[in-house]
Amino acid sequence: MPKQRPLLRPLIRDLHPYVPGEQPPLKGLIKLNTNENPYPPSPKVLAAIRKAVDDRLRLYPNPTAQPLREALAHHHHCRPENVFVGNGCDEVLSCAVRTFAEPAVDMGIWRKRVHRSAATVQYFAPSYSLYPVLAEIHGATRNEVDLNPDMTIPSVSLLRRGGAWDFTAALTLITTPNAPSGRGYTTASLDALCQAMNGIVLLDEAYADFASDNALSLALKHRHVLVARTFSKAYSLCALRVGYCVGHPDLIRGLDKIRDSYNVNGLGQAAALATLDDLPYYQTNIRRLIATRDETAQRLAELDFTVLPSQTNFLLARPPGPPAETWLQRLRDHKILVRWFNQPAVSHYLRISIGTPQEMDTLLKTASQLKKELVHDSHA
Ligand SMILES: *Cc1c(COP(=O)(O)O)cnc(C)c1O
Repeated sequence: MPKQRPLLRPLIRDLHPYVPGEQPPLKGLIKLNTNENPYPPSPKVLAAIRKAVDDRLRLYPNPTAQPLREALAHHHHCRPENVFVGNGCDEVLSCAVRTFAEPAVDMGIWRKRVHRSAATVQYFAPSYSLYPVLAEIHGATRNEVDLNPDMTIPSVSLLRRGGAWDFTAALTLITTPNAPSGRGYTTASLDALCQAMNGIVLLDEAYADFASDNALSLALKHRHVLVARTFSKAYSLCALRVGYCVGHPDLIRGLDKIRDSYNVNGLGQAAALATLDDLPYYQTNIRRLIATRDETAQRLAELDFTVLPSQTNFLLARPPGPPAETWLQRLRDHKILVRWFNQPAVSHYLRISIGTPQEMDTLLKTASQLKKELVHDSHA
């Protein structure tokens, strides 16, 4: 018998896939682990989705999501040619890796034509944990560079001195505001970094709606900068998978060549269009979430949690006393789900999504009770 061929490519066999937050089917759970919005989509959006559920489900959706591209272009004061829509922001990221980075395994073939950096996908640590997975799937080289200890972005001069940052990386992915830290970055500091880069920079602004500043203008100012957004977090549409990016038409055309033919589903297109028609509803909810976030941060600090300043819809907080993983489990025992990351930079912290004021109240009361059980008072 001939030796059997392996069924999977070695790269796939050895791949560590992305680990999403749990979606357990438990009743009465307070779910603060995946940065979902606690408020429903607007009634007008729900009506638009219902209205789209008819005989037209037979038909393929608009292949380029053209009406949505036009509405987004109007919203961001640019042209439809500046907008690429994806099946969630995650697909935008995946398309960007495949459009801009060479697979390192092909470098032998291209060696004469491309530099090592052409296969480099670069990002800060910690940031969105999908980036390394996308780079690996594509066979690109990962370059992961630490943020400052306080989770701010190192200045260009510090990056130059450090030597680890590749200013010619094919693709640099920056989560801004950052996840999982929650920290926001000024447009001026991002602009300085973009200007120092000779390669594509994608600013992943999944949480921009909760921040006091955003860098969308950089995507219209620089030929090599993309800004990505999503309808999932601020617009309560996780289930329908709609994300997009804005940038120079040359970059958008490249992304358009490699996406699936009908990458954005019809209900998602209808829902996103209706969302853009009802923005005041969402602005109210966003203001509410920001107020709940800031109050929760203060009350956690009063319980001796170390809370990082947040420009997002979640808080990264270091609990007092026992390891964060113990708190994770004990909160879970009380039917409160938060997120813990087993990465050295953040393993002492819990990431807590902002829910309704009532949900946060339950969290805080439970945390106060757990603190009495778990933290031994040094003065006792
Ligand atoms: C949630 C999230 C995304 C993905 O958004 P989808 O549109 O739901 O795919 C991308 N980037 C960051 C940083 C996120 O937190």
